[in-house]
Amino acid sequence: MLDTIIIGGGPAALAAAVYAARQKIKFIVISKDVGGQVAWSSDVENYLGFSSIVGIKLAGEFKKHVETNGVKVEMAEVVGIEKKGKQFIVKTPTKNYETKTVLITSGKKPRKLGVKGEEDYEKRGVAYCATCDGPVFSGMNVAVIGGGNSALDAALLLDKYAKKIYVVNLNNQLSGERMLLSKVKKSKKVHIYDNAITKEIKGDGKKVTSLSFEQNGKEFEIKVGGVFVEIGSVPSNSFDKLTKKNQWGEITIHTKNGISNQTSVTGMFAAGDVSSVPEKQVIVAAGEGVKAILGIFKYLNGLK
Ligand SMILES: Cc1cc2nc3c(=O)[nH]c(=O)nc-3n(C[C@H](O)[C@H](O)[C@H](O)COP(=O)(O)OP(=O)(O)OC[C@H]3O[C@@H](n4cnc5c(N)ncnc54)[C@H](O)[C@@H]3O)c2cc1C
Repeated sequence: MLDTIIIGGGPAALAAAVYAARQKIKFIVISKDVGGQVAWSSDVENYLGFSSIVGIKLAGEFKKHVETNGVKVEMAEVVGIEKKGKQFIVKTPTKNYETKTVLITSGKKPRKLGVKGEEDYEKRGVAYCATCDGPVFSGMNVAVIGGGNSALDAALLLDKYAKKIYVVNLNNQLSGERMLLSKVKKSKKVHIYDNAITKEIKGDGKKVTSLSFEQNGKEFEIKVGGVFVEIGSVPSNSFDKLTKKNQWGEITIHTKNGISNQTSVTGMFAAGDVSSVPEKQVIVAAGEGVKAILGIFKYLNGLK
C-alpha cells in the first residue's frame, strides 16, 4: 500500500516528488513523459533562477533534481482510478497500484481543430508541438493555426527552420503577450491572415500539401508541408471519473482545515494546469504541486 501516487511528470508532479522523497513517504510517480509542457516551450524567461532557458533544458534540470532525491518516474499512462473503501486503485494498461491518496497533476493537452484532414494527416504534416516537430519542417512553408500565445510561440520557433510561416488566425487581430507579438511582427518570414476560418487540411494521401481557409467570404488555399495547430489546450484528465470538474473540465480544488489542493473526493488531490487554479505557469504549477503534497502529508498524519 502506497501513501500516494503522483500522476504526471510536469513541474507540479516533479516539485511534489522532491518533497515526497525528502519526507520519505511511500510513493511513486507515474507519467507518460518527464517535463510535461515545459519540454514543448521554446524559451522560458519567467522561472525564478533562470533568466532565460530553453524549455527542454529546464525539464532536464527538473529531471536531474528529482533523480538526485532518488525519484525514478514510472513511464506509463494512467487509464483509470477506482475507489476501494477509503483507498484507491490507480490503473495503467499493465499494472494496478493501491494507494491511500492520489495527486493528479496531469496538466493539459493540445485542443484539436476538428476540420477535415486533421486526423488523416496527424503525424504526417499535422503537428501540435512546434518545439518537438519544428526541425522536421526545415526549408518548408508551414501554417500555424491560432492567434494567442501558443501560436505566437510556435511561429517564432518555426522562424528558425521554415521557409515561410502563415499564421491563420480566426479573430480580427492577434492576442497574446506584447513581447511575443512584437517579435512575430518583426519576422520577415511570418505572414498573418486575420479573420481566417480554417476549412480543410489537404494532402496527397501520404503527407500534407495545402491548407484551405475562408477570409471575408473568399476561399483561399495555401501550399504548405506542415500545419501546426496551436489553439490552446484542454485538461488531460479523462482517466478520472471521480472528482468534480469546473466548466472548463478542470478539477475543482479547495483548501479545508488547513489542507490545500483537495478535490471533491477525500484523499484525492490535484495541482497545476489540470486543476481549477487559473494561473497556468511553470512556477505556479511547481508551487501548487508543493502545496498539494504538503496537504497530503497532513492528511496522511490524520489517518494515523
Ligand atoms: C508552448 C508553451 C509555452 C509555454 N511557455 C511558458 C513560459 O514561458 N513560462 C511559463 O511559466 N509557462 C509556460 N507555459 C505553461 C507551462 O508549461 C504550464 O503551465 C506547466 O507546464 C503546467 O505544469 P503541470 O505540471 O501542471 O502540467 P504539464 O506540464 O502539462 O504536465 C502534465 C504531465 O502529466 C502527464 N500525463 C498526462 N496525462 C497522463 C496520464 N493519463 N497518465 C500519466 N501521465 C499523464 C504528461 O505526460 C505530463 O508529464 C507554456 C506552455 C506551452 C504549451
